[in-house]
Amino acid sequence: MNLDDLPSLRETLDAHGLSAKKSFGQHFLLDLNVTRKIARLAGPLTGRTVLEVGPGPGGLTRALLETDAARVVAVEKDPRFLPLLHELAEAGAGRLTVVEADALDVDEAALAGAEPWSVVANLPYNVGTPLLIKWLTRPDPPASLTLMFQQEVAERITAEPGTEAYGRLAVIAGAVSRAEIVMTLPARAFTPPPRVDSAVVRLDPRADRPGPADLARLERVTGAAFGQRRKMLRSSLKPLGGEDLCRAAGVDPAVRAETVDVAGFLRLAAAL
Ligand code: SAM
Repeated sequence: MNLDDLPSLRETLDAHGLSAKKSFGQHFLLDLNVTRKIARLAGPLTGRTVLEVGPGPGGLTRALLETDAARVVAVEKDPRFLPLLHELAEAGAGRLTVVEADALDVDEAALAGAEPWSVVANLPYNVGTPLLIKWLTRPDPPASLTLMFQQEVAERITAEPGTEAYGRLAVIAGAVSRAEIVMTLPARAFTPPPRVDSAVVRLDPRADRPGPADLARLERVTGAAFGQRRKMLRSSLKPLGGEDLCRAAGVDPAVRAETVDVAGFLRLAAAL
């Protein structure tokens, strides 16, 4: 069988007697028009290894196999989906590798091999943010990330200073990458529908991203500043140098964390 001859995703789920499990954050995309659009938004993928977390029934995996990516490596934690995914691997003629693992534990670069790698995934909501932080703070991050999150999380990743949604996630994502919401999807697009709408965020790592030591300092500064986001920096950053640290970084100690842009936080981290 090749990719064109595969039964529909719904027929495939029925044939394997599979239904969604809440504990694995399973909300499936069963419309290939939607998964193809996500794969297009992730492009160009030519010659790359694509890491997909949580292939589940394989709708996004099929769309990724239709691109000219060199390989797709799909990491799935729920063993019930492995027989179905191995059938898809056969149809993929050697371009799909299925790995049964928790994505929080894998070394992505080791799975990707020599080629540059990108991440494309409809993420399980419960581990979306820790996975994003794991990928963004690697010394060797992926070439691009195209990820489905709950809309509220997508807004926190791409938030601008001075907004309610602006916080640690926006500062870290903004320091390391250019991040943009490229698609929104209503809850009814998923089977079963989640309680909230979703959005796809595309992140392209910056060439001038901070190194591991600067990133660690940035995590400390943002942790302290946003841990007490209603306070002025001179008091929220007191344990790290307070007013003196702000002055050294050229940041007004009388403002709150949510008004300081990414460049300001990078200066605070460098002054630490
Ligand atoms: N990609 C499929 C789609 O779009 O229809 C499924 C997406 S569903 C939101 C999330 C998938 O991630 C499920 O298949 C679930 O079993 C898997 N998953 C949940 N936690 C995981 C983890 N820690 N590591 C790897 N896969 C995980």
